[in-house]
Amino acid sequence: CGIVGVLGKNEVSPIIVEALKRLEYRGYDSAGIATVNDGKLDRRRAVGKLVNLSDLLVHEPLAGKAGIGHTRWATHGAPSVVNAHPHKSGPVAVVHNGIIENFKELRADLDKDGYGTKTDTDTETVVLLTHRFLDNGASPRDAAEQTIALLEGAFALCFLFDGEDDLMIAARKGSPLAVGHGDGEMYVGSDAIALAPMTNRITYLEEGDRAVLTRTSLEIFDAQGMLANRPVKTLSLDE
Ligand code: GLU
Repeated sequence: CGIVGVLGKNEVSPIIVEALKRLEYRGYDSAGIATVNDGKLDRRRAVGKLVNLSDLLVHEPLAGKAGIGHTRWATHGAPSVVNAHPHKSGPVAVVHNGIIENFKELRADLDKDGYGTKTDTDTETVVLLTHRFLDNGASPRDAAEQTIALLEGAFALCFLFDGEDDLMIAARKGSPLAVGHGDGEMYVGSDAIALAPMTNRITYLEEGDRAVLTRTSLEIFDAQGMLANRPVKTLSLDE
């Protein structure tokens, strides 16, 4: 339901929680954050209000300057910690808005290959596919690209990888996603409103776009895989 991603200069967990709060009005049943810290992915998830996630983070802090967060409105699989995003399999974590329509077929194939599902969600198939591509030697970028090519349905996705604390990959198909430009920082949000405290410089992804982000660069590829030029707009909010 709500997506936030931050490649920051400082600890990102508090920043992500604040940004997710700005998306609360959309409704959600659970929330979670994953970060890369010392090269390692870790995550925290909680059912219910964001305050439950912040309470959890007080007791079990999540360090890291690169992170993704999500508020979930369950479509496949009950609201639970296991089904909450970010989903993770091996060296990849993902947050997802929307529905992967062909997840059952994908899941059957993954199960056969030993990438067993642990949740009831459509989203988990995304991380399992990416995990398999990574195991087969693909780079994070290629693994995400190959995964996205297999997905049917509506999605906004944001990927984060073990060992990559200066890389995020985002994709948009049927579900909005915006990139925010900071000063040596880069952000992703399902709604630019979530990013308003961090930046007013926004690039909206178009249908079928994939974005490769570092703290200092943004490359966008269109649905045909061609490098695309998307404008940076100035967001003005009357609040
Ligand atoms: N279909 C996904 C799920 O049920 C994502 C739902 C959402 O957009 O929050 O986990």
